[in-house]
Amino acid sequence: MEKQSYAIIGLGRFGTSIASKLYEADQEVLGIDINEDRVEGGKEFVTHAVVLDSTEEDSLKSVGIRNFDYVIVAIGNDMQASILTVLLLKELGIKKIIAKALNKRHGQVLEKVGADWVVYPERDMGARVAHQILTPNVLNYIELSNEYNIEEIVIPPSMSGKSLRDFDLRAKFNLNVIAIVKNQDLIISPSPDQILNDGDKIAVIGRRDKINDFVNLKN
Ligand code: ATP
Repeated sequence: MEKQSYAIIGLGRFGTSIASKLYEADQEVLGIDINEDRVEGGKEFVTHAVVLDSTEEDSLKSVGIRNFDYVIVAIGNDMQASILTVLLLKELGIKKIIAKALNKRHGQVLEKVGADWVVYPERDMGARVAHQILTPNVLNYIELSNEYNIEEIVIPPSMSGKSLRDFDLRAKFNLNVIAIVKNQDLIISPSPDQILNDGDKIAVIGRRDKINDFVNLKN
């Protein structure tokens, strides 16, 4: 991946988590926080770390914030600071602003003042946990639209020893298997003759209700 530069404003759990993943991926990461201890604690996860108040335009300019490809505003509780920061970043011409919102209203304001992408970590993680509780066989999923998902599913025992053709998910549920995970191996676009075994996982794409019908099959 081409090296990009990221500034993370707010080194709480959320900001630090983003910073460390980007840093591990060999990206250039500037960590910013108003709190000195947070900056000290975050130093090992970033390329540079500075103490500053992101609601002060001159401070943002002093670190060359305009030169960053992405700026991520990971301030949550202080809504005023989060909104003001996004507004300043927008005025400074930052191309990609990502901001964390605590709730829908906060998110709407962040969009209005210029955030390109608003994320709701608590809401989204809550939804994922509920999904996982309701469908324990589903390991991972992506919502493509209101109707369509891609889901990673542990195969039911009734599929074990059968080929994809034998089970014919396409005819039964209008689902397409886009990959099979066998231990550590990933088989992309598997052949219909591919035999499935206990513990295999499949990634399927299809209508959410059809995926649910398949997942809730009694084995
Ligand atoms: P998390 O949920 O990510 O752990 P948190 O609970 O520590 O966050 P938040 O209020 O969301 O608290 O703040 C995240 C970080 O943003 C904190 O470390 C805080 O010091 C920092 N922060 C808040 N206001 C500013 C500001 N004006 N400039 C820079 N950093 C700020």
